[in-house]
Amino acid sequence: MVLGRQKPNVLVTGTPGTGKTSTASLLAEAAHLRHINVGELVKEKHLHDGWDPDLLCHILNEDLLCDELEERMKSGGNIVDYHGCEFFPERWFDLVVVLQTDNSILYDRLMNRGYSGQKLQSNLECEIFQVIREEAEESYRRDIIKVMPSNTIEDMSNNVEALKAWVASWVAPLES
Ligand code: ADP
Ligand code: MN
Repeated sequence: MVLGRQKPNVLVTGTPGTGKTSTASLLAEAAHLRHINVGELVKEKHLHDGWDPDLLCHILNEDLLCDELEERMKSGGNIVDYHGCEFFPERWFDLVVVLQTDNSILYDRLMNRGYSGQKLQSNLECEIFQVIREEAEESYRRDIIKVMPSNTIEDMSNNVEALKAWVASWVAPLES
């Protein structure tokens, strides 16, 4: 018998500024999982095809990223933090968390991050039109998706508590 993962893999996704990195790092600590900040990994390991001067971000090389992560994902116990989700293998994840933030709150967070013009606008629209939520619903089974509000610090601590409890009760599926 081949042993599958003994700890779950969780994807934390959502529009930039919704709180993925803050939530994922708190959860990683609380639930003893490894936080993988995809944006940073892509920069660090050059898993990109250069810089997009219009979108002001790296052009992700999805194949390089997935190859880089495959072994770690097989062994389980990861929290993957990224603002996209459709190109990851579906089999990687036991839970997909979509964080959502009200528009005026997100606006302030992105302004604080120094976003402006087209970049600010397109991220706000991404959230208004629930682009990431739809992407998640098109890519993963509905019963593994949790959509969670991330407006306040209280939301964040409620989310971390709920997710920590989910991790604690997760049972590895039997392999045939
Ligand atoms: P992301 O990784 O999704 O881009 P971050 O975790 O970097 O988002 O959060 C962006 C900013 O918003 C940070 O300054 C963070 O402290 C703040 N923030 C995120 N989530 C919340 C929340 N639920 N309540 C209050 N502030 C938050
Ligand atoms: Mn982040």
